[in-house]
Amino acid sequence: MTELKTGGAQGYLRIATEEAFVTQEALDMYGEILDGPDPDPGFKSLWGFYLRSEAERPKFIRDALLGLGAGRIKDMDDRGIDKAVLALTSPGTQILSKDKAVALARNSNDELHQACKDHPDRLIGMAACAPQDPEGAAKEIERAVTKLGMKAVIINSHTHGHYLDEPQFAPILEAAEALDVPIYIHPNTLPRGQVEPLIAAGIDGAIFGFGVETGMHALRVIVSGTLDKFPKLQVIIGHMGEALPFWMYRLDFMHQAGVRAGRYASSGPLKKEFVSNYLKENFIITNSGVAWEPAIKFTQDVIGKDRVMYAMDYPYQCPAYEVEALDNMDMSLDDKKAFFQTNAERVFKL
Ligand code: MN
Repeated sequence: MTELKTGGAQGYLRIATEEAFVTQEALDMYGEILDGPDPDPGFKSLWGFYLRSEAERPKFIRDALLGLGAGRIKDMDDRGIDKAVLALTSPGTQILSKDKAVALARNSNDELHQACKDHPDRLIGMAACAPQDPEGAAKEIERAVTKLGMKAVIINSHTHGHYLDEPQFAPILEAAEALDVPIYIHPNTLPRGQVEPLIAAGIDGAIFGFGVETGMHALRVIVSGTLDKFPKLQVIIGHMGEALPFWMYRLDFMHQAGVRAGRYASSGPLKKEFVSNYLKENFIITNSGVAWEPAIKFTQDVIGKDRVMYAMDYPYQCPAYEVEALDNMDMSLDDKKAFFQTNAERVFKL
């Protein structure tokens, strides 16, 4: 066992880039939805468990998500995490009505800002926003980046079944591109009508459903030509790119086949031609929840070593042995330093 010290003793700092928090206000809003009529089934499966179960794991996660002070810093110290990039946990504002989403985005950004101010060398924030009000969201992103020092935008994937490639969300993409901050598309549960077969099998959440949902979201953003309209936009996706790097060959082949046949108006020719070119030029991938050397190396190989970043996924998945396993990857120190530290410093402008 190596000792998981912070401070770069192993030749790099460990910057964890998909770390979650929640506010009491968000938990109260989630409780109201659970108690309301006919709650969204994916949300109910996820937050009915995390909010209401008294089992050890959901209790730990609730407490850890709420912690933005000494407890979190101690957990980072214990696991050798130098800096954590924090985002409002899934489903964030996405599940809320417009007024509540607007309020939660603003208030949670203020709370996160305070925590980052209290621990400036340890905590970094991503800005929440309310896509239910796209113009307001653009203004909140601008406030959070320019006044609160946030380094990215968190979108907990679909907003009531709507995705970022839809034209009403253009102000959000425009703001992120203009402010030169990346958008992190973090998983959500699949919408009603899609999630039920996964719930029936017990695979709706992080085990599989999240990847299906968020991989699809990222792919929609690519094939819709959205990144041709916002060519400088950078999108971060976690969980080893929600499996898209592994699909890349087939995505390219079948997308091209569809384009040649004129099969879909919604998925026509792209300026960069291949789906994979967008993954290589507009996406950054984190290994949240996938502390697995072969997958990390494969993604570095097909997407680029400068586009794969470390993430822990605290508190949902945070055993110290995963940090140790990644420290021990058979990889040059330069590449490991890019993975753990310097890619994050570049992407978030730290
Ligand atoms: Mn996560």
